[in-house]
Amino acid sequence: MTFIAVQCPHCHSEQIVKRGKTGCGTQRSLCQNTGCATGSFLLDSRNHGCVPEVKQSLMDRSLNASGMRETARVLRISTDTVLSELKKKEDALQSVHTALRRTLHPAAVAVDIERAGEAEMDEMWRFVGKQGNPRWRWHASDHHTGAVLASVFGRRKDEVLLPLKTLLEPLGLTRFSTDHWGASTRHLDADVHSPGKRNTQQIERTHLTLRTRIKRLVRKTICFSQSIQMHDIVIGLFVNRYAFGLVV
Ligand SMILES: [Zn+2]
Repeated sequence: MTFIAVQCPHCHSEQIVKRGKTGCGTQRSLCQNTGCATGSFLLDSRNHGCVPEVKQSLMDRSLNASGMRETARVLRISTDTVLSELKKKEDALQSVHTALRRTLHPAAVAVDIERAGEAEMDEMWRFVGKQGNPRWRWHASDHHTGAVLASVFGRRKDEVLLPLKTLLEPLGLTRFSTDHWGASTRHLDADVHSPGKRNTQQIERTHLTLRTRIKRLVRKTICFSQSIQMHDIVIGLFVNRYAFGLVV
């Protein structure tokens, strides 16, 4: 006689009872743990996309240089599942490093603002969907530690500078340095703004990490984003996980 211990894949409870069979004859089980929201589940799910481990793996792959189709093929799930799982995360995305915000001493911080992920002008990766549709992420980071303080999307310099300023204002941050751009000199007071390349080395390192890990930012690849929404979600998730230290 063989004994197989059945565990709930979500809460790992062993209080499991049988709950009929599915249309194709797979045994359905029910978790009786009152604290578990799952209810019934399949032990040997044909639908890999429903398994929590697969969902986590999907997220890890998307943020570690795997394209959407590649992720779907390796995990044996559909690209639609990959898409919908990523889209579910959209609402929870944050643009300010809230944990850092509490420990920050405003007087000691100088903020660098620069485009995240810089490359030659003619490269494909920064275009979403088609050529001529550039999509940039802009980072504001602590000049001394390189920690990303806030992050926004925008096409032009003018578009992103004001939102970044609005995000950083409650932190009491006043010292900014940016690369030479017209927008920054127009919107920042002369005494708080010190344009120049020498202050932006830290942020360039962040670009490199971003470009290495996210396939849709890699140059000369076919894995560029088809839609602005997915592009923003994946890069937003990446920033949330690796720059802000959030769980995604
Ligand atoms: Zn359970």
